[in-house]
Parts: sequence; C-alpha cells; structure tokens
Amino acid sequence: MSGFRAYRCLWGWPRESGDVMTEKKPDEPEDSDEDWMKYANAGFGETDYSLWDDEEVTEVPIEADDDWDDADESPDQLSTHMEEIPRAPSPAGHKHLVRIGTCDHCLGRLGGKKRFEQSLEESGIEIRNLVTERDSHLSDARTEQPLCPFCENLYEESELLADIIFDSISPYELSRLQLGARIPKDQIEHEEEMRKRFGAGGSDALKSGLVRVIAQHLNKRLEGVTLVNDKPQVLALIDVLTLTVELDIRAHYLYGRYLKLERGIPQTRWPCRACKGRGCQRCEQTGLQYKKSVQDLIGNPLLGLFEADEHAFHGMGREDIDVRCMGRGRPFVIEMKEPKIRSIDAAKAMELINKEADGSIKITGLRDSNRSEVVRVKDTPAEKSYTIRFRILPLSEEEMKVLTAPVDLTHVDVQERGGKGKKKSSKRKRRGDKKNDHKKPLPSVIDVPMGPDEATLKAMKKPELVAMAEEMKLKKSGTKPELIERILAAGPPAPTYLDLPENDEILETITKLSGVKLAQRTPERVAHRRADLIRRRTVYETSNPTIEMMEDGVREVEFTLRCESGTYVKETVHGDGGRTQPSLSSLIKAKCEVLWLDVGDIHAD
Ligand SMILES: [Zn+2]
Ligand SMILES: [Zn+2]
Repeated sequence: MSGFRAYRCLWGWPRESGDVMTEKKPDEPEDSDEDWMKYANAGFGETDYSLWDDEEVTEVPIEADDDWDDADESPDQLSTHMEEIPRAPSPAGHKHLVRIGTCDHCLGRLGGKKRFEQSLEESGIEIRNLVTERDSHLSDARTEQPLCPFCENLYEESELLADIIFDSISPYELSRLQLGARIPKDQIEHEEEMRKRFGAGGSDALKSGLVRVIAQHLNKRLEGVTLVNDKPQVLALIDVLTLTVELDIRAHYLYGRYLKLERGIPQTRWPCRACKGRGCQRCEQTGLQYKKSVQDLIGNPLLGLFEADEHAFHGMGREDIDVRCMGRGRPFVIEMKEPKIRSIDAAKAMELINKEADGSIKITGLRDSNRSEVVRVKDTPAEKSYTIRFRILPLSEEEMKVLTAPVDLTHVDVQERGGKGKKKSSKRKRRGDKKNDHKKPLPSVIDVPMGPDEATLKAMKKPELVAMAEEMKLKKSGTKPELIERILAAGPPAPTYLDLPENDEILETITKLSGVKLAQRTPERVAHRRADLIRRRTVYETSNPTIEMMEDGVREVEFTLRCESGTYVKETVHGDGGRTQPSLSSLIKAKCEVLWLDVGDIHAD
C-alpha cells in the first residue's frame, strides 16, 4: 500500500467561492507551495481544506512514481500461493499477463520492456508478438478474456478522453495544463495488488499510466500548452466512471496599487443590506449598498478583457469608506475568475480603468501576478501614514473625566502583537471574535448629564424655554429671565469648559505624540466585527502640523502621522469617549472634531 498516497482521487475539492465582500476572511496560509504540499499529503478524500476559494489541487504527478522500490521481494508476497508465477519482465511473466487478458497498453506498462521512443501500446504489441510466437494458442487471449484485468479496458478510451479534453479546453487561452483522473478507490487498490504480483518493478500505476497515455495523445495536438504537475492554469479532471472531463479554470491574478481620490467609496463591493444583493427598489436593482467600490472600478472594466465573469479583490489592508488613499497608493491583487483570455496589455487595461473611473480612483503599476502574491499582500502588516484634519472645540471638565477614565488593562490583547512569529495565531484570535471569552464587560464610559449654560438659554426664544420648563416639570409662567433662572436652578449643572489650548501647546503636543504607545479599546463603530479588546498600538511619527483659523472663529488643525498597522487613527485624535488613551484630545484638553482622514502612504512593498 505504500504507493497509494501519491495517487489520491480528488472528490469534490473545495471550490466554493470565498466571498471577499463579507467580513469572513480566509486564514492566511504561510506559503502557497507549502499549502500545495499540505494538500498533497492530506488523507484520501479530505475536502475540508478551504484556505482559498479556488484552492490549488494537486493531481497525479505524471513522472513521480515511487511506489515500486519496496514492492519487490516483500516477504508477504513470497509466502502467498501465487509465488510460483514469476513477474514480468521474465518470459513466463509476460506469458501470464497475456493469458489473463491484459490489454496492449497495460502489457506495455507492466511488461518492463518499453523503450524510450515507444508508446505503451507499441511496447505491449511487441511483447504480445513475442509471447504468441512461442505459444500460438495465446493469440486470441483477448477474445477469450475481453476485459483487461488491470485497467478494465479504460486505456482503450484514452484517445476519446484526449478528444474530450481537447474540445473542452479549446475556449480557454492557456499555457499550463494539468491532467488528473478520478478512479474509484477499490479499482486502484485492486490494480495495485495485481501489478505488484505480476508487473515488472517500476511499472506505472493505473492512474499515472492513464494520464501519461492521454498526455501523449494531447501533446500531438496542443500547441503552446505544457502539461504540468503543479500550478496549472487549467486542471482537467477525468472521471473514468462517466468518461467525462471536469475543468477547473484557475483564476488569473493582477497586481497594482490604487489611489482613492474620492470619499464615500468602499474598497470591496457591498451587497445591499435590504436585499442582500438580489436587487430591490432601495438599491435600484443594483444589489449594491454603494454604487461604486474600488473593487468594481478596477475589476469591471477587466471582465471584458479577460472574458471572465467575476472578480475577487485582495487589498493590503483597507481604508474606511470616507477615507481617501493617497501617496503611492495601496497595493492590491485582483483575481479574474475563470478567464478565457490570460494575456492582455496591462498598460492599456490600466488606461481603460483610469478612464472609466473618471477621477474616483487611479491605479498604477498593473502587472500579472499569482496566488502567492495574494498571500503576501494580505499578510503584510502595513505601516501607514495618514493625514487628518479636525476642529478644536471647547471641552468640559466632565468630558475630560470621560476621556481620561481609567482603562481596564486586564483585557489587553497581549498576544496580538508579539513579533512576527506570533502573528498568525493572533490574527486568528482577532477573527475569533465572539468565540473568545470576552464576556466580562469592560468598564463603560461615564455618562455625565449636563444642563445648558446661561448664555445658551438667553439665546433661546421664550416658547422654547416654556417647552423646556414643561419638559423639566417646572412652572412655565413668568418672564424670560424668570424662566431661565428656574431652569438653571433645577437642571443639572451647566458644564464648566476648560480653557482652549494655545497654538504652541497644540503644535508641541502633536510633536510629542510620536513614540507614544496607545491603549485602544475596539471602537464601537467596528465592534460588530471585531472582538471588544484593548490593543496597544504605537504612533511612530507625527509631522507637518498646521493650524488655521477659520471664518467661524474655530481653529482647524491638520497633521500627518505614521503609526503601527491596526491603529485606529481618528480615535487617536478624538479619544473615542475615553476608549483610546491617551488621545490628542485628552492631551490638549480640547474637543477634537475630526473632519477627514486620508491614507498618505503605505510603507510596505
Ligand atoms: Zn489494460
Ligand atoms: Zn437592494
């Protein structure tokens, strides 16, 4: 049985399309070649390997056949009742093979006499002629035993199978084709037992022999297509029971960088929340929550060029919908699924994409890529620089207390960042979300009730004050000053605002923010897809702070910061109600109202 490992049938390997639009992300494998090996060494019929939507599947290595070395003189075989029948290539062995009805292909395969330039069939005919020269009564052995005991006459269908493959791949442009076959396990085991008893040592196994014969037929007809043992563009899988061929058309990958020049565009397509993508009135039958996405803007123009139906998008991280992506742009790999065309002019494709995007996005450096690069792009923890702009508003003492309320660091996700080696497990942990035991609630923010101050009340009209008094269950009669006095006396205390910081103080604090290690509790806006944890993230560098006095008398501040992958940047500035500490807001003791955020550059690649 030692050889069986190499000739596994592949039943229904995973090819469900992994939906990159959802939050569900595939585990990132370490290396595509390793994955390939993992699959190759997995047990028979294992189908739960779903790292990727179109996982590489290894099939029969056409050349490798290492199962015969130890097959020769095993004690088991010598002790069986069959020991008196010698194996090929002895003349008696050949005679036995002919007698039991072996077909010409299998005779050539098992006879041990095939010369390099011969096909299996030619070698088999030669052996049969030698046998029948000595024993003429064996000349009609195939008539008496019409079913070849080794291949059940499957090899006689090899030309037909080659034709089917040739026709089925003809719509596709390809240069690397891999052949595979599904043969029932019991048939494989039976043939293996027979082969090791009667066949010459080193004979091809049933499946690799069949694939070799079909490959020979195909090689005569295919131009510019190499038959390969791994990384095919198309895998043709023969089902010997039904004599049909199933094609697995591998995706074509393209790498590039994108700039997102317009806010309000998600990176990947979002199915409409109301209809889940089926199309409804709310989404104007588009099935999309947002009309545009970076994925569609890049992928849709390519569909026609590749004659593909679908695309999948893999970015090196992602920015929020309202965040632009500037600088050199964000690296991505886009996958064209089941393409009929594989060779396109990348420069022209890029031109087309940029023209149709009409300024929403711009891509650069488009080129052919491969599946391993998807892994690299997705696995690179990119350090980014951002530019952020915000307004400086007064902060009350009560709000300051909230921004600096003690953070329960017992929930710090310490495993998340522990050097490169630990990255894998931590990623999984982060995705594990609800499965993790984080049920113990983190301290919630302190809710401070605050009443209006006198100036606000004075600016209000009398009917508004009456309504307010009524709501507060106060007497609503009297003059406006009386109402104001009553409201101020009854309500919670008016906030005491802290003095706004001077420009110098703001600039200095921004400079000092570089090197600061933040504690960031998962912001509520992403809590539905991220575990509620506190993560430690470092601001590496801050630069180019500017302050501008606006017409309404409010100062707007802008600066650039570079921080660790995974840092919540807006939260770093506004403090997220004390969930991020320290924050620029708590340091300058002023409310920072974020206006916009841009990704400046991604420091990777
Ligand atoms: Zn046969
Ligand atoms: Zn809809």
